[in-house]
Amino acid sequence: MRASFTIACITIASLFTSAQERKSPNTVTVIRAGTLIDGKSDSPRRNQLIVIRGNRIESIGDDAAAKVPPDATVVDLSKATVLPGLIDSHTHIFLQGEDPAEGGYDVNILKYPASLRAARATVSVRRALEQGFTTLRDVETEGAGYGDVGIKQAIEGGYIPGPRLFVATRAISTTGGYNLEGYAPELTMPKGAQIIDGPVEARKAAREQLDHGADWIKVYMTHRSWVGKNGELVSQPTLTLDELKAIVDEAHGWGRKVACHAYSGIGLQRALDGGCDSIEHGLQISDAQIAQMVKQGTWYCPTIAVYYTDWAPADTDAGKRDRLRASVHEDSFKKAMKAGVKIVFGTDIGGIPWTQPIAQEFPQMTKLGMSPMDAIHSATSRAADMLDMTGKIGILAPGAYADVIAIAGDPLQNIEELGRVQFVMKDGKVFKNEMH
Ligand SMILES: [Zn+2]
Repeated sequence: MRASFTIACITIASLFTSAQERKSPNTVTVIRAGTLIDGKSDSPRRNQLIVIRGNRIESIGDDAAAKVPPDATVVDLSKATVLPGLIDSHTHIFLQGEDPAEGGYDVNILKYPASLRAARATVSVRRALEQGFTTLRDVETEGAGYGDVGIKQAIEGGYIPGPRLFVATRAISTTGGYNLEGYAPELTMPKGAQIIDGPVEARKAAREQLDHGADWIKVYMTHRSWVGKNGELVSQPTLTLDELKAIVDEAHGWGRKVACHAYSGIGLQRALDGGCDSIEHGLQISDAQIAQMVKQGTWYCPTIAVYYTDWAPADTDAGKRDRLRASVHEDSFKKAMKAGVKIVFGTDIGGIPWTQPIAQEFPQMTKLGMSPMDAIHSATSRAADMLDMTGKIGILAPGAYADVIAIAGDPLQNIEELGRVQFVMKDGKVFKNEMH
């Protein structure tokens, strides 16, 4: 008994020491950056020295003039391009791009134990970090309840590697407004989102989710979509304005924000009139709606790449809809960009498999006319602004958390270089270094 007691004490003591070491404010790391893109400025700087104390950036200056503190660990990235850790503002760590041939979305909810889904989510977050995404806004667990809160706790506790997570937990939609569907009406099927009808239920759902750890509330304002009589994209609206307003009022009272999935039409209009903070996807946005977004300061997370995958055959109704979605989406993105809507980088990854590169969204944005630097800002300082983390993440500047990545090439010449991240530091700790 005594021996095991001693061992237990030593174990606890060593755990405590390592936890203290992790947070030590005095550990100094210095990064020599050949090219530095800070996430906010319009142009890069050459030969900079980043001094990191603990988990924060202490200073950045010209390498030639700056002094390396005597006890510092030096990381030589003098031949690389150094950027802030990237932010994906639309992910689903509890989805795996389920293949319809293998049962699609439904098997995840009907057949997989929560532990299996959590194990796969653990792999998803690791993949994101490996690719240089040090922050994710994860916009609902698709039937995995509050699993995202647990994964976030596991990352913050140092049990598993992963990005900083902003989680939305269960999401909210209405009766007839979410999967699972198409089963016998006699069966009560589980749903991928929390279903509400009426402003009272809407407010209660928001309160429950906020109480259990939601950083954001995610609302589905449209559900099915199809090609209308005149060849236009039609989307089925879900929540009424009163239902949405109850949620937005509740979330804002807690100092939290509301992300609205909205494709087009009535549902998108209600999202804007109800005070949504961010429009997700926004496939077909009218000129008047774009003006309203500018006026209200609504964020736009377009998630372009995902609408180019898995098109149904061209001669089917679904295939026509898929092609229409992509073409109206391109127009909306271009018009929103021109009007000065605040656009953030988001992929909807999880809706597509986590084996696909997250950075594939960057060339989609630049192909539609966004400059490479603007695309980088959409995944750094602009996303940080949306997350109320201005100056703390998405930027390389004194006082920011030391979330730093590096690539060998120049992303301003070739945006696809962002798909080849070779160095990742999160919160002052090196997670990956393949720079030679
Ligand atoms: Zn999504």
